[in-house]
Amino acid sequence: DVLTLAHELGHGLHAYLAREQGVFHQSTPLTLAETASVFGETVTFGRLLAETTDPNARLALLAESLEGQIATVFRQIAMNRFENAVHTHRREIGELSTEDFADAWEGTQRAMLGDAVEITPGYRSWWSYIPHFIGSPGYVYAYAYGQLLALAVYARYEVEGDAFVPAYLDLLRAGGSKSPEDLGRIVGVDLADPRFWDGGLAIIDTQLSAAEQAARDAGRL
Ligand SMILES: [Zn+2]
Repeated sequence: DVLTLAHELGHGLHAYLAREQGVFHQSTPLTLAETASVFGETVTFGRLLAETTDPNARLALLAESLEGQIATVFRQIAMNRFENAVHTHRREIGELSTEDFADAWEGTQRAMLGDAVEITPGYRSWWSYIPHFIGSPGYVYAYAYGQLLALAVYARYEVEGDAFVPAYLDLLRAGGSKSPEDLGRIVGVDLADPRFWDGGLAIIDTQLSAAEQAARDAGRL
């Protein structure tokens, strides 16, 4: 659909603008690979939402976006906490039993899901279907990092408007030629500052409030 098109066009624009960087520096690490795509998607999402007045349609749009945010930000962080727990256990206590893995998985999933989802015993072994834990340990954080970074860059655009555009295009032109921290500096953001990341979370929080309002307007809450 149109959001997917906007997302992929963002990747296309990023790769096109960074073409001068050459083969080694054109593409970015995952932490910045989704910046342009999520930016384009968020601009388009805002336009779609602004043009949609029917509360049920607004709720559907917002719920789909929030489900994506949960999968990309919160779920990846919960999985990162699981990895941290099992690797720390291995270093400090020793080999883990199947039950130890299950306890770490259930505990970190419960921390994310709260009382919203009932966790059944069969779910305790579901850590084992995620290939990253074995093939690329320590990697899943990058999904959350990349998504929040992209949203936080978009939040800067919301504040600065058109004045933000030249620096944003310079960021895309830089491709993967610098570290994430240095790339962030091009658009005037400090990745070491927790408040920068709050800008990304604030966008998700705003979407949640809007979804609740749409649900009330539709008589579903
Ligand atoms: Zn993408």
